[in-house]
Amino acid sequence: MKDLDSNSFKAIAERYKCVACFKEYKQHEHFVEHMKKSYHSVHQPRCGVCEKFCKSFESLREHISGKLAKAHCSSIFSQKGCEVCLKVFPDLYALSEHQESCILTAPAPIGTTDIQYNEYDPMEDEIYIGKCPEAVAIDCQLVGCYDGGRLDQLARVCLIDEEENIIFHTFVKPQEPVTDYRHEVTGLTEAHLRDAMPLAEVQAKILKILYNGESVAKARLHGGKAKLLVGHNLEHYLDGLLMNYPEKLLRDTSLYRPLMKTHVANASHTLKYLTKTYLGYDIRSGINDTYQDCVSVMRLYKRMRSQEHQDEKTTMICSNNTKLHVGFDDRTSKELENMSPDQLFEISVSDYQCWCLDSRPRDPPREWY
Ligand SMILES: [Zn+2]
Ligand SMILES: [Zn+2]
Ligand SMILES: [Zn+2]
Ligand SMILES: [Zn+2]
Repeated sequence: MKDLDSNSFKAIAERYKCVACFKEYKQHEHFVEHMKKSYHSVHQPRCGVCEKFCKSFESLREHISGKLAKAHCSSIFSQKGCEVCLKVFPDLYALSEHQESCILTAPAPIGTTDIQYNEYDPMEDEIYIGKCPEAVAIDCQLVGCYDGGRLDQLARVCLIDEEENIIFHTFVKPQEPVTDYRHEVTGLTEAHLRDAMPLAEVQAKILKILYNGESVAKARLHGGKAKLLVGHNLEHYLDGLLMNYPEKLLRDTSLYRPLMKTHVANASHTLKYLTKTYLGYDIRSGINDTYQDCVSVMRLYKRMRSQEHQDEKTTMICSNNTKLHVGFDDRTSKELENMSPDQLFEISVSDYQCWCLDSRPRDPPREWY
């Protein structure tokens, strides 16, 4: 991006061009309006050819290989681009080498067998300090109770760690009589749940893993040793578990902005779609395999976490030892009027928490000093 100083840009620009999405505006105030509502940031998915920032991977895919794709970008992408992660490589050799680790295959399903796992031991404090938060992925299967099986209740839970090892798995004893086992999707029958673990015990075991020896208060405040919980439609599962977990520790693949639909506001893709599109393999063709679903969400999370984004250049001021961002609302229209497209981009921040930030060590809480 070229750096235009704030006085020279006015003279040479008849139009104001957004340095992130390249849209052009005749009037500066319309351009500022665009910047205010676009939430552009270095965390947005970006075209590897023209460096345009896009709202989501779906818009990037359209830009690079859709029906109305930019000709130059799409011709380069079709030769040297990876269809799964949408990155562009210097040559065919680099592309094919990359694709060996980018296009994945489905892990072996576990079916409806009960799986052995080792009882979880919370982490020692010393091991945690200065590290990035660890993530755990969850998948649940729900069966129906009441009239026509309309109401969901938890029947099975699986938790895996970042290395795709099962750290907890159990069938769950239903609280209410089951009226629909949803066998064609869950593969479950009455026999699986007859002597299953009671819900209260399931909750306690999961919370022990997640809080990881941390106090609830500390976990809410800054995370501490508590783990990040990754899943697809987590709210649905937490309801089934009758369980709460701090919002800031949830990583939901159905709500992560870059993975969501662009043309329908706040609409999610299915896990089946995300797995096929962003990991390169099929799941959920018949019975949903709880382990395969867990692995898919973990792989999606890790892929998003490993995105390499620049540090934001946003202006921060310090107040009471807390860094505060100075955004559009903190500036007068006069100040905004005198800012160049580059400067406006610099004060713009995203309206979601990018998962790449999970790969940076958390700020240690103040009581450690
Ligand atoms: Zn823009
Ligand atoms: Zn990021
Ligand atoms: Zn492009
Ligand atoms: Zn790739």
